[in-house]
Amino acid sequence: MDTGIIYNIQRMSGQDGPGLRTTVFLKGCPLSCQWCSNPESQDRRPQLMVFPKLCSGCGACISACPQQAIVMDGDHRSRTDRQKCVSCGACAAVCPHKAREISGRAMTVAEVMRVVEKDELFYQNSGGGVTFCGGEPTASGEFLLELMQACHNRGYHICLDTCGHCEQNAFLKAAAASDLILFDCKHMDTAIHKQFTGVGNELILSNLKNILERHYAVRIRIPLMPGVNDTESNITALAEFLKPYGIFDVDILPCHTFGSSKYEALGLNQPSQVPYPKEELKLILQRFERNGLHTAIV
Ligand code: SF4
Ligand code: SF4
Repeated sequence: MDTGIIYNIQRMSGQDGPGLRTTVFLKGCPLSCQWCSNPESQDRRPQLMVFPKLCSGCGACISACPQQAIVMDGDHRSRTDRQKCVSCGACAAVCPHKAREISGRAMTVAEVMRVVEKDELFYQNSGGGVTFCGGEPTASGEFLLELMQACHNRGYHICLDTCGHCEQNAFLKAAAASDLILFDCKHMDTAIHKQFTGVGNELILSNLKNILERHYAVRIRIPLMPGVNDTESNITALAEFLKPYGIFDVDILPCHTFGSSKYEALGLNQPSQVPYPKEELKLILQRFERNGLHTAIV
């Protein structure tokens, strides 16, 4: 595949695997988690994001838009009719205040590698490498595999950050090309999983089982959502699932609201989850410990 849609390449990341890493964010995801902190990652297509607080009301975008999709509102801020918008990016190109941007652009493997290679020395010195994240990176299919191969050819450590929802053979190919798999476990009950993410968990758990049975290096990650997956019954079910594979350590990503401005920028409703008060989070983490799972907050 010639190109994939990338919406961010974050250099010097310290959270997406060991050492200093470059994280490549691929656009497109089969899930639509209600708490997603990167809502711009879900749709594979490039998308217009508008940040009203940055808008000065200059009107440059209005005349630039070939779809006549933009008007000025009563507060002198530009407003976009998303039914008419085709994400062409003409408005973003003329906006002097960066109040508009297109999230996602087609990049070739060579273009991505030119960015990734800039930090090669840091990978060597810190034990880091490259992490592929999304969205869901495996949704980019061959393009992801080509990127992984290019990184492998350079000797880089490769992390796959995945929700695990991918056709079995395709998933195993991506897993086999990874040095470490960061695997999200969202809920052990398929009906609740479907309610909050849009899909059941059967394929996800089957893929997880497959890679654990093959003894791939896997780190379990739990995006912890108040009242959704922090219940005693869910944590017990997770611990029971992991125990036969000798997994007793999990990473916790507590609910946060860092992505809320992005929902506004995409014209989407805000997620309803509210972050944990500190004391409550402590109590939830004790639930994991009681079930034999040691936690690390990431
Ligand atoms: S992205 Fe293109 S179509 Fe959409 S509002 Fe901007 S100029 Fe108009
Ligand atoms: S070009 Fe930018 S600053 Fe000017 S009206 Fe449009 S969004 Fe606002």
